[in-house]
Amino acid sequence: MVNLILFGPPGSGKGTQAKMLVEKYNFYHISTGDMFRYEMGNNTPLGLKAKEYIHAGNLVPDSLTIEMLKARVIANKDVYGFIFDGFPRTTPQADALDQLMNSMGQNVNKLIALDVDDNEIINRLQERAKVQGRADDANIETVQNRIDVYKKNTTPVFDYYAHFDKSTKIEGVGSIDDVFGRLCTEIDNL
Ligand code: ADP
Repeated sequence: MVNLILFGPPGSGKGTQAKMLVEKYNFYHISTGDMFRYEMGNNTPLGLKAKEYIHAGNLVPDSLTIEMLKARVIANKDVYGFIFDGFPRTTPQADALDQLMNSMGQNVNKLIALDVDDNEIINRLQERAKVQGRADDANIETVQNRIDVYKKNTTPVFDYYAHFDKSTKIEGVGSIDDVFGRLCTEIDNL
């Protein structure tokens, strides 16, 4: 199994790239953001709990997020490998993921961060708000808060895996195909 974390700020292209990687390498894609949107769309108890955090651009509490993620991984443990997109976003989530992988005799092979600067992110999220209509993209205060939360709570996850020599950064600006090519080079080198 090859297990990857696709990392980067909101709007860095993780979801777009993950879908292309799934087609090429047969990974199983887990996006915690997509899972929360599904739960909210269906007004499930988890969706109702997550809503206020997501609309404010804050992280959903670790306990809820980890429980949801674990259930999805365990239900799919025979796949070729996982792409984690939007998870882990805190160091306790990274700890939980490592424990889960270990319990399955697996590990995270690599974290690949898409490097995109703040101005580009804000532009992309404003464009995405028009196309996809996500409330958390449309409100500039929510967007700014997501960027702040990323810097404060999520960038330590890069350092967490760097400590095990597993983190790498690639240029996230350029055409979708260019970024995809850079990602494939990293994966092929594993
Ligand atoms: P983006 O990467 O564009 O911010 P996502 O779809 O990954 O979008 O996430 C949307 C929102 O869902 C986040 O702002 C956060 O509120 C919530 N969320 C997603 N993944 C996590 C996570 N691992 N931990 C906590 N909250 C999360």
